Amino acid sequence: MAQMFNRIAIVTIFIFTLITIGCQTDQSENSTYLNTKHTEKLNVVATISMITDIVENVGGNKINVTGIIGEGVDPHLYKPTARDTQRLKNADIIFYNGLHLEVRITGSVLDKMKDKSKAIAVTDKVHKAQLRPTPEFIGGYDPHVWHDAKIWMNATETVRDKLIEEDPKNAEHYHKNTKEYLKKLQNLHNDLLRLAAQIPLEKRVLITTHDAFGYLGKAYGFEVRGLIGVNTENEVGIADVTDLASFIINRGISTMFVETSAAPHGIKAVQAAVQAKGYNVKIGGSLYADAMGTPGTSEGTYLGMMRYNIGTIANSLQTELELAYSE
Ligand SMILES: [Zn+2]
Repeated sequence: MAQMFNRIAIVTIFIFTLITIGCQTDQSENSTYLNTKHTEKLNVVATISMITDIVENVGGNKINVTGIIGEGVDPHLYKPTARDTQRLKNADIIFYNGLHLEVRITGSVLDKMKDKSKAIAVTDKVHKAQLRPTPEFIGGYDPHVWHDAKIWMNATETVRDKLIEEDPKNAEHYHKNTKEYLKKLQNLHNDLLRLAAQIPLEKRVLITTHDAFGYLGKAYGFEVRGLIGVNTENEVGIADVTDLASFIINRGISTMFVETSAAPHGIKAVQAAVQAKGYNVKIGGSLYADAMGTPGTSEGTYLGMMRYNIGTIANSLQTELELAYSE
């Protein structure tokens, strides 16, 4: 009996010793792990909120992400603060839109970086045939590609590929998240097509402050007209206001839209010019053109923002159609 007890005690001590050695090995491996830079979470910085949203969806809990340009902020005019510049310099990867959207960030920081390979434009792999040429914009292309969900799917794949390149051990995680997000984007694209198709063709005229919705128009069938062209750096001129007012009167258009990230005074001036000629044009709502809504709300996500925009457009144009029938 005593012999058996001793044998159990020896086996127990042996197992305990093995466990202790095992734990020590794990601890020493862990400390090596923590001290090795490339095994830490990637530190990713994104410019506009729509890109931050992609990075969060694809990266999930395997990365740390910081978005620079927030709610209601115009990316064409955004100047990086000293803190932004530091964040951009310390980042492992920077995702930006490109096509000269964030000119003040690219000009003052990204173009001057020694290691340019860490800054990736999410529009890099979009086929040129999918881009809207515009002589108005530096570089010759309209940068507002996120308004076409199909192009945004391409941007999502670019984000995935760079994360995998920099962090191959989590490749499976990035692939899985991308697959799920792409499915959501495809569903969004189908919804946008379906909702736009419900608006009669002759009513599908989208008038906004600046030409941010050209890709939405091209993909989902809207004629688009912005008061000041593609770039908000353009000033509103008297001729812009009178030209647009004439267009509205001649075409019998009764709805315009303002934008959350651009001043509404230009559109209000057009409204006044139309009214001065004895006609009426209403403001159908505020659209998310170049920035998403409040974080934590539906419009604070790319999917929610896009659904909000098409809902606002469809409701405003449809309501007016119903009113026209009832009059
Ligand atoms: Zn814009």
